[in-house]
Amino acid sequence: MDGLTIIAFSLAAVFAVAFFAVLFVFIRRRSKPDNGIDAMTGLLSRERFLKECAVQLKKNSDEGRRTAMVVFDVDGHGKISTLFGSEVGNGVVKGFAEAVKQVVNGKFRASRVDNDDFAVLFSYTRDAEIEAFVSDFREALNSIFSGTSVMEQVDFFAGIAVYDGIDDIYTLFNKANLCLIMNDGNRVTRFSEEMEKRMVEDEILRAEMVNALEEGQFELYYQPKISFRTGEITGVEALIRWHHPTKGFVPPNDFIPLAEQTGIITQIDEWGLRTACRQCKQWQNDGLPPVKISVNMSQAQFYRTDVISTVKNVLEETGLDPQWLEIEVTETMAMRDIERTINVLGRIRSMGVSISMDDFGSGYSSLSSLKTIPLDILKIDRSLVCDLDENDVSKQITGAIVNLGKAMKLIILAEGVETEEQCQFLTRIGCDLAQGYYYSKPRPAAEITALLLMPKEALLKQV
Ligand code: C2E
Ligand code: CA
Ligand code: CA
Repeated sequence: MDGLTIIAFSLAAVFAVAFFAVLFVFIRRRSKPDNGIDAMTGLLSRERFLKECAVQLKKNSDEGRRTAMVVFDVDGHGKISTLFGSEVGNGVVKGFAEAVKQVVNGKFRASRVDNDDFAVLFSYTRDAEIEAFVSDFREALNSIFSGTSVMEQVDFFAGIAVYDGIDDIYTLFNKANLCLIMNDGNRVTRFSEEMEKRMVEDEILRAEMVNALEEGQFELYYQPKISFRTGEITGVEALIRWHHPTKGFVPPNDFIPLAEQTGIITQIDEWGLRTACRQCKQWQNDGLPPVKISVNMSQAQFYRTDVISTVKNVLEETGLDPQWLEIEVTETMAMRDIERTINVLGRIRSMGVSISMDDFGSGYSSLSSLKTIPLDILKIDRSLVCDLDENDVSKQITGAIVNLGKAMKLIILAEGVETEEQCQFLTRIGCDLAQGYYYSKPRPAAEITALLLMPKEALLKQV
């Protein structure tokens, strides 16, 4: 090879390396994931959105225009994805994105800020424009999904935070999101000072719960379950009570959801399980007629890896025979991961513990899945029972649930029984057990002891 050929080869090699280097950089740039646009919907990414909003916020202020952060959360998206697969779920998200684009109409900045959460920085002059904007969004959704059943399965929540002239964009965004967390079931929630105060109070309650357990501020009350056939108490449900040192009585609905957010719920549930089993064993040791004890299990506890060993250990520790323990799980949590539910409940049940499906008929009832879940008792939700006196549809649904339960050889319990008429109807359709204020409110252990000591005839007058 002469000198000239060597130079030509070297040059070619240098050019080739340079060419591939440029190509590599070009491809990298093209495929760089965060170009500020969400690939699925074409809306702005969260980072770019917030960055651009910061500029817009200042501009609006300078021009004397008002600004609000509006966030939309798709409600029911998870359910759709679970039932019909992620492709259908993605279709729903894309439909929502399309509705956002339609109402924004190129005038405002909009983003898919999270999996199924959207945000719009809305500029306006009159307050009523915000409400109109949200209702336009709903109309856009209806027209996008018209001819499908999507809008029967999903809905949305909107959170609105109006710019106060002081907040930075992140605070404004957080305030709008807070509306989604603190909403009381309303479709549209506006941020308020009161909401912020409630959030702080919740924060304090969350922190206080840790001490509450250690300091013995929790107590279990027990509500009798009565047999329609014999009028006897067949079991009691353990329901937690918090005697707060300064607030007094705090009802479970005010702190159990908070406990679920922090993880302390699993300690509370374990305490409840142990206390209830110990109490039940105590009643038996005292020679009282044996009754089953039922304990509520939270979703967090149910999805812990050691849930089975916890139940087993508590039974061993307290010496309670498993046949006297019943675990209540809700429909919603059982349906979240049906495979796991079948596995875990099957194993708990094989220990001899009974399983009941709580609040049945309140959420999304997948009757076909129910067939596969290891169950002993079906608890008809209070919302159906309290409607029985006035609502024929509730009567029909309740009747259908009882028939279905019977076909599956389950024991059927009606929750929240309050009137004589409800009792008559429920007895007529073949319901087995009742629980409700008509018979008895939840009571402290000592009062239940007294009830269990009474002869049956006296008991019927008491409960
Ligand atoms: P739940 O499991 O559905 O319990 C039944 C609730 O209905 C109880 O409310 C009970 O007092 C109430 N109730 C019973 N009969 C009637 C009636 O005739 N009319 C009306 N209006 N209400 C009736 P409570 O004790 O306030 O508990 C509320 C919820 O808190 C429970 O609903 C349960 O989900 C949860 N919870 C209570 N204790 C515990 C616990 O130890 N652990 C867990 N994870 N959750 C608990
Ligand atoms: Ca329950
Ligand atoms: Ca219930």
